[in-house]
Amino acid sequence: MNQITAVQHPEKLSEATSDEDKSRGKPIVKLAGVRLGYSRVPVLDDINLSIEPGQFWCFLGPNGEGKTTLIKAMLGALRPKSGRLTRDPQVFEKGRVSYVPQRLELNPVLPTSVREFILTGLAGISTHGEHRRKRLDRVLEIVGLGASRHQNFWTLSGGQKQRAMLARALVRDPRVLIIDEPTAGLDLAASTTVLNVLADMHTNFDVTIVFVTHDLHIVSKYATHAALFWGGAVLCGELREVISSENLGNTFGVPVPVEMGKDGRPQIRTSEA
Ligand code: ADP
Repeated sequence: MNQITAVQHPEKLSEATSDEDKSRGKPIVKLAGVRLGYSRVPVLDDINLSIEPGQFWCFLGPNGEGKTTLIKAMLGALRPKSGRLTRDPQVFEKGRVSYVPQRLELNPVLPTSVREFILTGLAGISTHGEHRRKRLDRVLEIVGLGASRHQNFWTLSGGQKQRAMLARALVRDPRVLIIDEPTAGLDLAASTTVLNVLADMHTNFDVTIVFVTHDLHIVSKYATHAALFWGGAVLCGELREVISSENLGNTFGVPVPVEMGKDGRPQIRTSEA
């Protein structure tokens, strides 16, 4: 069985480049008074958000409140109706951002090996044979799919598919990883392994994470910052500023007890706890 192995001796997928040095300390994405929507459908108004290198953001809110809409705008696929949205060109124009959607838009018509599937993550990036092979080996090791590299992607289990999607995102050596509910529908073991990889990327590889989730335990455990989506507004900032019983109650419409832990991180108590 494929297991994700903890990375004992973290090494970056690539060395820090002069481009990384140039953008150090600059926001990756900054929105000031941004309004987003589709033709005549308004979705979010007056968004003021700054995502900076090394942060771990959780985007939280009920379905249909605009999380994906904001991600589309961050990725440059949706133009703001008004306000100012700036993106670090060293990240976005150099292709150092990876997005893991909740569902694949691909059609399972043609058999595709896990290896071929992961290498599609290098689209638009010029790499040479040996370099590609090294990157592939590295991400297969990180997600624990080395033994399945020649297997047909479409025959993988749900948890293995999610890990292959993560590997496809990591093979670009992203500085920013945007990930839409990667643990939804996975069993506990599969979601734990995905979360371990994300935590490892954030802590040891300095990857900035934007994570869309419904799971409040994940927020308590991993996030440095949170954005709450509710009623067309985005309430965002450091975890301890944003995560309160009142704010979570407003967002989800049910009481959510929050206590401040000894480590200064808010602890969220839900009925599953
Ligand atoms: P979430 O990711 O929080 O579930 P979305 O950003 O997907 O929410 O959707 C926010 C709102 O925008 C919803 O009302 C949805 O129906 C609407 N919406 C999403 N995509 C489009 C689109 N392409 N055209 C028109 N409305 C859309």
